[in-house]
Amino acid sequence: MTEGEYRVAKKPLLGIGSCLAGNAVRYNGETKKPNDYVRSICEHFDTRAFCPEMGVGMGVPRPPIRLVGSEDSVRIVDVETHSKDYTGPIREFALQVLQQAPALCGYILVKGSPSCGYGRVKRYSQEGRHLASDQNGVFADALADADPLLPLEDDGRLNDPGLRESFVTRACAYHNWKLLVDQGLTTHRLIAFYTRYKYLVMAHHVPSYKALGPLVANASQLPLQALSTQFIRTLMAALSHRATRRSHSNVLFHLAGYLKRAITTPQRQRLAALIEDYRIGKVPLVVPVTLLKHHFADNPNAYIDGQVFLDPYPDDLRVRNQV
Ligand code: SF4
Repeated sequence: MTEGEYRVAKKPLLGIGSCLAGNAVRYNGETKKPNDYVRSICEHFDTRAFCPEMGVGMGVPRPPIRLVGSEDSVRIVDVETHSKDYTGPIREFALQVLQQAPALCGYILVKGSPSCGYGRVKRYSQEGRHLASDQNGVFADALADADPLLPLEDDGRLNDPGLRESFVTRACAYHNWKLLVDQGLTTHRLIAFYTRYKYLVMAHHVPSYKALGPLVANASQLPLQALSTQFIRTLMAALSHRATRRSHSNVLFHLAGYLKRAITTPQRQRLAALIEDYRIGKVPLVVPVTLLKHHFADNPNAYIDGQVFLDPYPDDLRVRNQV
């Protein structure tokens, strides 16, 4: 794959809670208004909406449901009597979603929902007392169990610029990986894939960068299936770590090193000053990255041009203006 291929091939496909996508499927027959960030992500990705509660035949309007039980054995039941248990059908529906949409590379869940919430969903005792807000919704949990690589976020958490950046980065990486697998994975293609992701991994998690180097260097000694499983698990786990200003700056300085002989001393100094401005929080990431891309456009370098770090997701999302 080449730089920015996700833009010219199929767009990445995200699942999204149907109520967030504008469908009146909530228990009370309403929709949920998406925030600006969800709207922006939906403009740049393909989306497919699912409602697990409708999917298991609960209809609309319907009696509300909640999570009940101890931390490790929570069930999703009706609020009124706690006697109607939807846990099994909703978990089964999550498996059907993954089967129906194998291209899914991420999922936008719905804050606080006992089905679709991601983290911090309320859990109650049998007597109806609020015990804690420490759960995933049942549908979200089943998605995570069935496909641990699938990036998940809810609409509330996407308000956070760092989480938003991490989500779209992982979704695009998973999309690119699925395209690669569809093309037919070979050891050679896996190595080429990693070569493009090296600096992005370094920005997110140096220990994973150090683990992936030897894994890929010894790729021919492992069966392809074992290699690819270990590789993509490590890569997706690496990208789930938040990149910081410090780690991004480290990568920016590495990339600037490739321009050492290509640009003048004042240009080098200006670039270094901008990276430092970014590191100390004076400008957003888009500023030094734009200058770097400008220099590499004038001084092409095939290795750097292929680095996903420079273009990990569609520019129009403007995510790098906020981190
Ligand atoms: S089950 Fe999920 S998609 Fe359906 S209304 Fe509730 S939060 Fe929205």
